[in-house]
Amino acid sequence: MQDWRSAARDMVESQLIPRNIRNEEVLKVMASLPRHLFVPFRYAEDAYIDRPLPIGGRQTISQPYMVAKMTELLEAEKGMKVLEIGTGSGYQSAVLASMGLDVWSVERVDLLAKRAQKLLSDMGFGVKVFHGDGRLGWAEAAPFDRVIVTAASERVEPAWEDQLAPGGRLVVPQDVMTGGQRLLVRRKGDAGYSDTWYDYCRFVPLLEGKGDKGAPL
Ligand code: SAH
Repeated sequence: MQDWRSAARDMVESQLIPRNIRNEEVLKVMASLPRHLFVPFRYAEDAYIDRPLPIGGRQTISQPYMVAKMTELLEAEKGMKVLEIGTGSGYQSAVLASMGLDVWSVERVDLLAKRAQKLLSDMGFGVKVFHGDGRLGWAEAAPFDRVIVTAASERVEPAWEDQLAPGGRLVVPQDVMTGGQRLLVRRKGDAGYSDTWYDYCRFVPLLEGKGDKGAPL
């Protein structure tokens, strides 16, 4: 396999910069994170390609561009508290933590939550992972400056809005009538919420409940 550091740099140069990812911090972090550690061993060689990849339980690690785009849209500043819905492999959490953010992440598949928590702790990240239904957010840890949802959602759940601090923003791939989703940024301002729509995309669906008896891994 190509040295992972050069694979990560190539990923940034060929997939992110040409598609207008401009946030220097995002580019720097993604060029220096070992993405191959977040995918099953048999996919390690493919970890840096322009695709989502299976991580077990019919779930996926998002495509590098999507991770970069959503992170950029968060417009988070160091030290901010971020709620992530859908920990999955833990890669998105690691990107956020590497940017100096305080990450709280909820995952419905118990085994994925455990695996991600272990990997992130072993790598020295202080990310907190909770096994639960992300549609309810993480009330005990609220408020959050930012919320990032990494599964396709039919709507913005009331809990996410409630747990968002004033002036905060939320990024979610929301289902659209034409099929698939579109990235929605919702800001919580003094005069109410304001929305902006970005890229069309395709995420795995946000599912109901805790998923203890979910698909085999
Ligand atoms: N951020 C992840 C991508 C995850 S894919 C990464 O970087 O790898 C979406 C994840 O959302 C899956 O792991 C799926 O199990 C999880 N998910 C789906 N419905 C959920 C829910 N209601 N609550 C929490 N997590 C959920």
